[in-house]
Amino acid sequence: MKKNLLGNTGIEVTAAGFGVLPMGPSQLALPLEEGAAILRHALDRGIRFIDTAQYYNTYPYISKALEGCTYDDIVLCSKSLCADYEGMMEAIREAQAAVDREVINIFLMHEVRPGQMEERSGAWQALIDAKAQGLVRAIGLSTHHVDITEQAASMPELDVVFPLINYAGLGIRRGDAFASVTEMEQAIEACKAAGKGVFGMKAFGGGSLTVHYQQALDYAFGLSALDSVMIGFGKTREVDDLMDYMEGRMDPGYNPDVSEKKVYVNQEDCEGCGACKAACPAGAIYWNDNGLAEVDHTKCLTCGYCSPVCPVRAVIMY
Ligand code: SF4
Ligand code: SF4
Repeated sequence: MKKNLLGNTGIEVTAAGFGVLPMGPSQLALPLEEGAAILRHALDRGIRFIDTAQYYNTYPYISKALEGCTYDDIVLCSKSLCADYEGMMEAIREAQAAVDREVINIFLMHEVRPGQMEERSGAWQALIDAKAQGLVRAIGLSTHHVDITEQAASMPELDVVFPLINYAGLGIRRGDAFASVTEMEQAIEACKAAGKGVFGMKAFGGGSLTVHYQQALDYAFGLSALDSVMIGFGKTREVDDLMDYMEGRMDPGYNPDVSEKKVYVNQEDCEGCGACKAACPAGAIYWNDNGLAEVDHTKCLTCGYCSPVCPVRAVIMY
């Protein structure tokens, strides 16, 4: 697969990356062997850029997939929500131990929101120190926010940015409001111009755009400022579909069968605002005992109306 230099990091990444989140306990909860086999299949087919996070609890899949693996060009990215110095340092040590690597290629502040760079300055300093100590090679942040992506462009120590981008603009935020695709494109271009490495997340908008598979990929891979596009996989067939697309062998009329997919609310992300409940035409969203939204699959029409209105992309389809 084609590779690109990730900004000024000197790290080469494949144009498509493997997001490990979907196979993990918060989504498909695949058995270890099954998940690892999917990841290994993707590595064998040429996808050599892996994204995970401390809170995904997916290191065991990666470790298993890397057993006996001789590829020397695999780039691993992880990230942590920790706000303080020691928490971030521990997150890096945890990743190193879990995947048995002395150096994690890329480590990020996970899902940074407006105002948080100040609140999480301890964690950021930890990443700067970890890079100086050779524990990680590149540091940066992931975000759904245009304003944070803009800020990233002018952060001297920051090497890489992992922003949310998709053709429909699902989930793109500025402050407390939604923002446009154009705004995020411009912020990404500013990062690229500043020498940052940029790879995009949620090309399918959390699953809502999978029915427009090729349109979603055409858009994401058509963004010249993106060095890579991270795609979440939970099935071998999904890896093969992507490879067909990347290698130009996909029927222009093809879209994957999403009839078995269901809509869920990610309980880690839901803020209980009620926007999805108000948008649901089927009365399929209810409050659980934690005061958070959940979907009643006996009522859900999989119409997708709830997904775009969620301010934190907690409504997902898999
Ligand atoms: S997909 Fe449609 S029916 Fe299902 S929970 Fe969302 S808005 Fe309601
Ligand atoms: S819109 Fe999102 S954050 Fe708000 S209640 Fe629904 S799932 Fe939770």
